[in-house]
Amino acid sequence: MPAEEATPAIVLRTRDYLESDRIVTLLTEQAGKLGGIAKGAKASRRRFEHRLEPFSHVMLYFRRRPHGQLVFITRAEAAGLQPFRLEDDLGRLALGTYMLELAEAVTPADAEASGAYHLLVEALAALAAGAANIALRQAYELRLFRWAGFGMQFDRCRICGESQAGSPGAYFVVGRGGIVCGRCRESAPEGGIRLGAASATALVQLGQLPLAAAATAAAAGADGALAIARFIASVVDRKLRSVEFMDSVIAPATRG
Ligand SMILES: [Zn+2]
Repeated sequence: MPAEEATPAIVLRTRDYLESDRIVTLLTEQAGKLGGIAKGAKASRRRFEHRLEPFSHVMLYFRRRPHGQLVFITRAEAAGLQPFRLEDDLGRLALGTYMLELAEAVTPADAEASGAYHLLVEALAALAAGAANIALRQAYELRLFRWAGFGMQFDRCRICGESQAGSPGAYFVVGRGGIVCGRCRESAPEGGIRLGAASATALVQLGQLPLAAAATAAAAGADGALAIARFIASVVDRKLRSVEFMDSVIAPATRG
């Protein structure tokens, strides 16, 4: 029998299976993204004192199975790990659910993902402690995609490299993951999303701030939100189910 492993983990998603089992998707510190089956999860308060629900932050004990994709979850304990209390606020619940879904979407299976785990811990802690708003959402999106190797650039033209600080605006080109200046745009076939200077400045800031500070920083306006959304759609090959609910709860910014 494979040895038991242990790692801190955040539950991303669960579904019930048969009478009393639960299938759980987790983002772990030591073992990447994992799918596991918790036998008797709905009945055993001894092995699963800490319930395996979305947002649960647990010390996960599991064994790999020689065949089959799901690991066998033996126990889950609170183990002093920081809890994230989001359920009492609709905005936090909506943004938090999106954070979980986005983390699952960008984390490849069978890959090291401790950076994504730590970023999600930072994001959910900031969310539990503060307001659910567009700035925190955007900061999380920028940081998570940078971790995944898709850093977006908003301060320099992707083509000529010239700083765009102080320019009246540039164009975000999805295929280049960044802005191009007005001059280079004429020679670029892709077109682009017009991005005002205020939004570009906000996105540069948000990509650098600790997430705890992002919620009180300025958010990018609708132009910046559109640029990020188009970029995410170009990388993530599935529709994110939580976006619509979040957009209906957290008012999008209307000014650039
Ligand atoms: Zn340029």
